[in-house]
Amino acid sequence: MMENNKKKLFVATANAGKLREIRDLLKGIEVFGLQDLPFHIDIVEDGDTFRANSLKKANVLMERLRVPVLADDSGLVVDALGGQPGVYSARFAGENASDEENTQKLLAELSDAEDKDRTARFVCVMCLVMPDGTVHYAEGESEGIILRSPKGENGFGYDPVFYVPEFDKTFSELTLEEKNTISHRARALAKMREIIERVLS
Ligand code: IMP
Repeated sequence: MMENNKKKLFVATANAGKLREIRDLLKGIEVFGLQDLPFHIDIVEDGDTFRANSLKKANVLMERLRVPVLADDSGLVVDALGGQPGVYSARFAGENASDEENTQKLLAELSDAEDKDRTARFVCVMCLVMPDGTVHYAEGESEGIILRSPKGENGFGYDPVFYVPEFDKTFSELTLEEKNTISHRARALAKMREIIERVLS
């Protein structure tokens, strides 16, 4: 049910983990994901940059709804793999691969990498597209180290192997609130928040 007193934001994602974080970060705004819509919408992510993919996702939904739409394109950039999996993070182990399959492939690819060579960062590009075609971008990054085996229960994607020295924990061992103080997504959204508040009715 829509709550009429709250501002509403449509986000072009079907990723439940992303939505949970965005909802927590945008308390006070009612956030709808693709799965909350009464129709199915298929978005092919065929860009080779985070920006291109975030723009495409936001645009497809904006054209359907004709309201401001936010999209998040994000991924894990691993130095020892020349920046892979990057924009291919969601399908590193193949189309429709599970988070666990992607994580296992990552650990296999890094099996020979020494501790000092396991540096990585999550990158997030948020894109807000307005019905008049205006586009706003915001980027965020979060640095960490890829462990040799998963630890923790929370989060999604590569969170169980992404270790953050300042917390001495993986993203999966952090609470949602803790992850939202340092994550790439939180940092990108912090830069976008003022614009979002302004453009929403
Ligand atoms: P996309 O933005 O839908 O193309 O997919 C992003 C993919 O990057 C996810 O499916 C995860 O594999 C990974 N990813 C992005 N953000 C996070 C995060 O906060 N934690 C763990 N994995 C993430």
